[in-house]
Amino acid sequence: MRKPIIAGNWKMNKDINETETLINTLLPLVADATAEVVFCPTYLGLQKAVEMTKNSNVGIGAQNMHFEKNGAFTGEISGEMLVAIGVKYVIIGHSERRQYFNETDEAVNKKTIKALSLGLIPIVCCGETLEERETGQAEAKVVAQMEAGLKNIDDVSKVVVAYEPIWAIGTGKTASKDQADEACGWVRTIIGKMYGEDAANNVRIQYGGSVNPGNVKELMAMKNIDGALVGGVSIKASFSEIVKF
Ligand code: PEP
Repeated sequence: MRKPIIAGNWKMNKDINETETLINTLLPLVADATAEVVFCPTYLGLQKAVEMTKNSNVGIGAQNMHFEKNGAFTGEISGEMLVAIGVKYVIIGHSERRQYFNETDEAVNKKTIKALSLGLIPIVCCGETLEERETGQAEAKVVAQMEAGLKNIDDVSKVVVAYEPIWAIGTGKTASKDQADEACGWVRTIIGKMYGEDAANNVRIQYGGSVNPGNVKELMAMKNIDGALVGGVSIKASFSEIVKF
């Protein structure tokens, strides 16, 4: 049985005071969720978020990390630093990082391996552009991202994958439940080819892309979808409706 996991990617939203306010709002609302619940605030909000959620059902995740422990990498934060403050999850290879910060599949792979070695749960993102979908290349793109991003992993069952078609992120345009399930199936199949069927059956695969309280139920009912990575709604009180799909 794969435990559903719903993660909120706050992106570059909420300063430290707003982070505190939002957590105070959300914590009681998500307390009875049966899904695993994750908040991913900005780096500056992480420590406060960990403190505030200590005795709760919510885990805290970062939105990125570097694969080196420390050194001359101006502006970066290492996995070790995340672990030191009690962070449990880390989003890796979000399409915005790939698009605006030139994050490559190779970096995604290094970060994923490093996160796992530190006991962090990586939420590894993949997904195609609109052009790739319209020209029939969506599957090839997702498979290639997984082959490169998830190679040489010791225990892939600890990885969470987020399938997020880029055309559905922040656009209000959700993939249909069948499109989303099919693509999450591509992910499961390639993981099966790489690491065996048992491992593939244990990996949790989220769908992300304009998930909201109105569409989460039908998405979560699909056989290959084990959760959601949520952007826009994750900083609203209605995120609590998503975690209780
Ligand atoms: C995301 O950025 O991961 C995301 C899915 O955003 P949204 O829910 O706003 O589409």
